[in-house]
Amino acid sequence: MYKNDNSHVMLKDVVNDIKDITKNPIYTNNYAYVFNGVIGGVVAVGEYQGSYVAKEIINILEGNKEEYGILPKPSGVFMFDYKQIYKYNIDTLKIPKDSTILNKPKYKLLLPKSIKITIFIVFILLISIGIYVVYKFIAERKKSTRNKQLYEKAKEREKLKTDFIVNMSHELRTPLNVILSTSKVTELKINNNDYDNKYLLEKLEQINKNSNRLLKLVNNLIDITKFELGSYELKLENLNIVEVVENIVLASVDYSTCKYIDLIFDTEEEEIITAIDEDKIERVILNLLSNAIKFTQKGGSIYVYIKRVKDEVFISVEDNGIGIPKDKINEIFNRFYQVSDTLKKHEEGSGIGLCIVEEIVNLHGGKINVYSEVNKGTKFEIILPIYTVEKNFKNLQIKDIQQIVKLEMSDVDTKEN
Ligand code: ADP
Repeated sequence: MYKNDNSHVMLKDVVNDIKDITKNPIYTNNYAYVFNGVIGGVVAVGEYQGSYVAKEIINILEGNKEEYGILPKPSGVFMFDYKQIYKYNIDTLKIPKDSTILNKPKYKLLLPKSIKITIFIVFILLISIGIYVVYKFIAERKKSTRNKQLYEKAKEREKLKTDFIVNMSHELRTPLNVILSTSKVTELKINNNDYDNKYLLEKLEQINKNSNRLLKLVNNLIDITKFELGSYELKLENLNIVEVVENIVLASVDYSTCKYIDLIFDTEEEEIITAIDEDKIERVILNLLSNAIKFTQKGGSIYVYIKRVKDEVFISVEDNGIGIPKDKINEIFNRFYQVSDTLKKHEEGSGIGLCIVEEIVNLHGGKINVYSEVNKGTKFEIILPIYTVEKNFKNLQIKDIQQIVKLEMSDVDTKEN
């Protein structure tokens, strides 16, 4: 086809011109138009016809056939443009089976649009159901693992509580039994006039020590409850912490000496003034010392050391006793926790001392570390911030430091062995 100026008209332009006039689908019987935006149709393809005629002639020449049939049998082949079929919403079921489909992407199917949409929806539905099932499965698994963990934790707490009650009953019963039996025997002796002062003093000392053990236990229980209620308060005073620790160590020497344990105090500084609750810090040091004495064998040694690093004070209590197994180290600060009986042997305790120690250190804004190796020893290290308070609490009470030590050391076995 030619334009007025004799130039060749492009097939695409022809198709577009027709499309400008009508919205109907355009069919063709010309092979070349199928590639230029028309639907297609029965297309006469010279190549096909030529090959048909050639085959006929070869048949005749080879004697398979006697004469020519009526000229080219295939007047054309069905050819359709895949994109145009969908553009004009042609029903694909009506397209003859042996049609040639042009422009069809490799993995696409020649199916009616409605079926394609249905397949797509079913596919999306299946994917959604799949995702939902996987999500539900994971959520259920997480839930059951969490429930299991909660259950395990509850079980563990319950066990700790039961252990605590058993332990506490034992802790209460032992000193009570000693007090009862000692007072009974003493009463008998007095009634029979069979006593002297030395005997009486010895028995009274036993009653005293065991009463202190009971008092310490009750004090600890009250403190634990106070921590739980958040009503445990510090009475901060700007004090020389070196002196406070040194005094308490010196006052404990008798208890270590009873077990032939060397108790050494050492410091890098003579004075470190910082805000502390004196009574509470004394309890912390005494608790660590009483544990060190309890868990160090005869002939061992305990080393208490203070140093200052920048604006922090480091206090360490180190012994060369039985040590704590690695897997138990994180547990010892837990309330009521005690390392297994085989290591503790005859030593007494409720398993709440270190819990209180940690709470007091935390209240002071500090932290406590523990390093230990079985049969080598244990080192507790307390790190407290150094600062002073303006509103300085003045402790006017007259303190009997020996009585305080006696109370905190009441569960240390001081019998020579
Ligand atoms: P307890 O009153 O039983 O001593 P604590 O809370 O003070 O309770 O200590 C918890 C446990 O930690 C102890 O029962 C003991 O097994 C272990 N422990 C604490 N200090 C030491 C130490 N210096 N050496 C070895 N074990 C220790």
